[in-house]
Amino acid sequence: MLTLKNLDVYYGKLYTLKKVSLHVKKGEIVTLIGSNGAGKTTLLNTISGLIKPSSGSLLFDGVEISRETPENIVKIGISQVPEGRLIFSTLTVEENLFLGAYVRYSFNRKKEVIEEAERIYSLFPKLKDRRKQLAGTLSGGEQQMLAIGRALMSKPKLLLLDEPSMGLAPNIAKEVFQYILELKKLYGLTVLLVEQNAKNALKIADRGYVLETGRVILEGSSETLIQNRDVQRAYLGRDLDAEERI
Ligand code: ATP
Repeated sequence: MLTLKNLDVYYGKLYTLKKVSLHVKKGEIVTLIGSNGAGKTTLLNTISGLIKPSSGSLLFDGVEISRETPENIVKIGISQVPEGRLIFSTLTVEENLFLGAYVRYSFNRKKEVIEEAERIYSLFPKLKDRRKQLAGTLSGGEQQMLAIGRALMSKPKLLLLDEPSMGLAPNIAKEVFQYILELKKLYGLTVLLVEQNAKNALKIADRGYVLETGRVILEGSSETLIQNRDVQRAYLGRDLDAEERI
């Protein structure tokens, strides 16, 4: 579904993504893990058209999309849930959801938008109970669900998720990851998931890539990455040297 080949991205002279190649197949959850500043958000922003690569290719269903506008990228079927969620806190839950539909439907096609919102409410019943509540008054976990719901309003084929667990208590983060897995199982949604919380991300992902200072340094099935000593040491918080001394 999505194929990146030798993608290079610069911020001015700063070489940020270096010959990045990866792919996401239909129906997969693929995770991209990496520490702060590795280039994960830059990668998602490049896929969603906010940043233009200087070279390389970005194919979606076989079509080159690297020169498309962000609006067209949403129309083509890719939706991003940004880091920090960026919901509109002074609008209600429902108004936030409706905004997610604006590229796909014009505002006078209200019936379709309402039907779409009902579909999202069936996925996230907590949002239905709070549809008239100001989004800024939701808990962190609920805001994340709203941000995901808003992205789903454009009926994407591919969902890009940027650090959905950021700032959430561990049990709430787990709940959000379970929702992502449900979306895949029940609706066949394809997901590219960027996470610092490698442990939880690898638990729900089919495959993963490790990004370090703008380069993909490892890739494989989630099981392979979980077993990898470097991944364990750098991203899963295991002190292997200490364990071996015991
Ligand atoms: P984090 O997990 O902290 O969000 P990340 O892996 O998502 O990190 P990016 O936000 O993609 O990393 O940043 C990659 C590098 O690019 C960093 O060195 C960052 O300082 C730099 N960078 C990001 N955005 C810009 C920008 N708009 N202008 C210049 N440099 C930028």
